Amino acid sequence: MVFAHDTAMALQAAVTLVNSALEPVTLTTPDELDEFLSDFGYTGRHDGDQAEVDAVRAILPHLRVLLTSGRDNAASLVNEMLFQAKALPQLSRHDGYDWHLHAVAPDRPLADRITVETAMAMIDVIRADELSRLGICADDDCEGLVLDLSRNRSRRFCSTACGNRNAVAAYRARQASAT
Ligand SMILES: [Zn+2]
Ligand SMILES: [Zn+2]
Repeated sequence: MVFAHDTAMALQAAVTLVNSALEPVTLTTPDELDEFLSDFGYTGRHDGDQAEVDAVRAILPHLRVLLTSGRDNAASLVNEMLFQAKALPQLSRHDGYDWHLHAVAPDRPLADRITVETAMAMIDVIRADELSRLGICADDDCEGLVLDLSRNRSRRFCSTACGNRNAVAAYRARQASAT
């Protein structure tokens, strides 16, 4: 495994969130946020209202910048995010999860906690010099983020939809050149 489990989960959650802001925009309602939170095993405060959804959506541009930054810039952004949030790393064991890190209390607003957890995950990425694990979708028309945690670094597309579309296009190109 490239990263600890909580780091990998936080990165995957952040990438999923950032990609939800691409057209067609998803994750715009409390129900959709509920689903995201249960998919990623989020615990702690969850208001379940539209204000919470809007607050989470408002951090997505910042998360996108962080996840697509070069190493030095990412380090500055992480420091700034943790400073602003008054983060204090604490080991925690709860809800069946073994010891892992949280740097803000579980009663802080969800948007703050997602920001801090993404910043904490990026600490590992920066220290391990593994920023190449994060990239932009290989589809020419897609700005989706790709998180590649595979051993052979084989992931190029942000979604199966993008992967399939490009596989079809490549197949057609081969057919056209064969005739
Ligand atoms: Zn936890
Ligand atoms: Zn894509």
